Amino acid sequence: MVFHNTRSFAQELDRTDPLRHFRDRFFIPEREGNALIYFCGNSLGLQPKAVREAADAELTTWQHLGVEGWFDGETPWLSYHRTCKEALGQIVGAEPVEVCPMNALTVNLHLLLASFYRPTPTKYKILTIAGDFPSDQYALETHAAFRSYPPADAIIEVSPRTDGLIHTSDIQRAIAEHCDSLALIWLSGLNYYTGQVYNMAVIAETARHYGIPVGFDLAHAIGNVPLQLHDWGVDFATWCSYKYLNGGPGAISGIFVHQKHHDRNLPRLAGWWGYQEETRFAMTKGFVPMHGADGWQLSTPNIVALAMHRAALSITAEAGMPQLRRKSEQLTGFLEHVLLEAGFGRSDEAGSLPYQILTPADPNQRGCQLSLLVRDNGKALFDRLASGGLIGDWREPNCIRLAPNPLYNTFDEVWQVGEALGRVSIG
Ligand SMILES: *Cc1c(COP(=O)(O)O)cnc(C)c1O
Repeated sequence: MVFHNTRSFAQELDRTDPLRHFRDRFFIPEREGNALIYFCGNSLGLQPKAVREAADAELTTWQHLGVEGWFDGETPWLSYHRTCKEALGQIVGAEPVEVCPMNALTVNLHLLLASFYRPTPTKYKILTIAGDFPSDQYALETHAAFRSYPPADAIIEVSPRTDGLIHTSDIQRAIAEHCDSLALIWLSGLNYYTGQVYNMAVIAETARHYGIPVGFDLAHAIGNVPLQLHDWGVDFATWCSYKYLNGGPGAISGIFVHQKHHDRNLPRLAGWWGYQEETRFAMTKGFVPMHGADGWQLSTPNIVALAMHRAALSITAEAGMPQLRRKSEQLTGFLEHVLLEAGFGRSDEAGSLPYQILTPADPNQRGCQLSLLVRDNGKALFDRLASGGLIGDWREPNCIRLAPNPLYNTFDEVWQVGEALGRVSIG
């Protein structure tokens, strides 16, 4: 698509946008009566109007039924999690039996590492990405240490090249080089800082070639980019639901465990909520897991949070990932266009330009987020945009992250951001 940096062009795209009505399903934050431009769904998605109703419905069930709510009511709480599986499966490219909403991301990562990180004295290393999200780094570090392997020795990091990006071929080379000592590969599917999407299909294929389990953190990928976890042969994954899935602050996370592992009776850290549903309340000794991803559940779920998650999830499922992705590529492409016109340089222009887009220019290597590097006084630029009504996200020391969301952002908002920027390299 050829973009024009004019308001009429932006408004025409909005007028013909098949997803434009989805914006009305969200509360848009305001300041002094004016809608803010919210490009921060990579950190916390906006509130869908349906979420309060969904939470309220479960509070009403509790009010009227008390404990009977576990078995009675419109959606009995005992199997409430199952009502999210269809949509989750659709969004991550999985069979419903391979996914389960539960816990929080880092908690799930620990549970999955307990099952999939099976080190031996010769094969105990974990391959990951340098500078990946801190919580993931801490989880890997402590799992290695927990099994008495010093993290500095056990964790192998693939580093970015001078363009600040990780090259898939570097990951493949590292897997091949360390294949004899690797017990696990774990990385984010979409880098929270650079906005880069890794080629998960190729990484999973390489991992399978060497017989090494591979898992992905999909915090920034779910609801943002197309995923085919089952077909790619990914072994396991987890995500959060408060970023692109709009489930609310601290929303329920979820896991994916590939079908090929369901009958393997993998070791795990068990809890009663992962015990077979039919006989759970017999309260007997000896853990018998539920089939599939459900068998990793631990505890009684927070039903109000699950209801919020489900309500938000169904909006993403209704819009559909192919349609969301189509709009997202245009929206972010348009943002890139106005940034280039404002004086930013492209990611692939080498060197240290004063204003540069760090996120890859290739749409297949990014989701909706663009990360901007501003060498001098980036915070002042960020503050200026913020005071003009833009909610973005600032990362020390010099990074502005902007993530226009195809569910609730408009092309006109992107145009307005361009206007607010002016000519950065001059002004
Ligand atoms: C947001 C994010 C998290 C957050 O983890 P929580 O357990 O939900 O606090 C973890 N990893 C990545 C890559 C993230 O982007």
